Amino acid sequence: MAQNKSLSILEVISKSSNFLEKKGVPNHKTDAEWLIAHALGCKRMDLYLRFGEILDESILGKIRALVVKRGERIPLQHILGSVHFAGIRLKCDDRALVPRHETEFLVDYVSQRITTSFSGKIADLGCGGGAIILALCNQLPDAVGVGFDKSDCALRLAKENCHSSGLSSRVSLQNFDWLENDFLPESFDLIISNPPYLSKEEWLSTEPEVKSYDPIAALVAQQNGLSDIRKIVSIAQNSLSKGGYLALEFGQKQAEHLEELLAKEFVFEIIRDQLLVRRFVFATKI
Ligand code: GLN
Repeated sequence: MAQNKSLSILEVISKSSNFLEKKGVPNHKTDAEWLIAHALGCKRMDLYLRFGEILDESILGKIRALVVKRGERIPLQHILGSVHFAGIRLKCDDRALVPRHETEFLVDYVSQRITTSFSGKIADLGCGGGAIILALCNQLPDAVGVGFDKSDCALRLAKENCHSSGLSSRVSLQNFDWLENDFLPESFDLIISNPPYLSKEEWLSTEPEVKSYDPIAALVAQQNGLSDIRKIVSIAQNSLSKGGYLALEFGQKQAEHLEELLAKEFVFEIIRDQLLVRRFVFATKI
């Protein structure tokens, strides 16, 4: 970015946003605002009350460094270091997938469906940094949960998030590879997962933030993106208590496969995301 002395906040937003637009950053204006608010240590919305304020060279340098990073397509959440997810704040870095907005919808849907009186055991398969299991247990005060992942890096991040969200007494974390096991170590009342479900081809066409910074193991599955989902359904058949629930996020064009996989042992409904794509399933074991 060009160096300029004494710019107003409004001018900095506009210059940063234009710079990010040229770098192909989606949501360039809001991202610029997040970065500027982060540098100023204020809320993004507070910028709107401070448009005319003149910034000095030292803060401009700080903002410039953040905006340049975003221009290199480093994910916004990695630069900010944290993300708000379904009611909790989580540390966020390249040890795990950046929690997605659509996955918040799954958490909110499930906690409403099973209601806050739910006092069972929840397993999150492929918990990554812990977003789903921590947000869900935060919303369900009587539930206990285990986050399973085969990545020790991801589990370390999840552990940090578990402590910072004050949920260590109800949420534990365990190394587990579902492709190597047919059962979970114990039975559960709810199994939830945002598993890898992209085909290699779909992954190749993802944005640079995804391709370069999200762990590929959290995104890509064999068998055209379906191998992990198939295995998770089979583990759910083996390890859910009777009447237990299975909630999954899945990929575009996978709904029919889910319907087939679940037909025998579950009653279920397929739920659409905000873009009206069939994206989630909520199933009850019969
Ligand atoms: N929704 C994610 C993406 O498109 C994919 C997440 C996943 O495979 N679980 O980047």
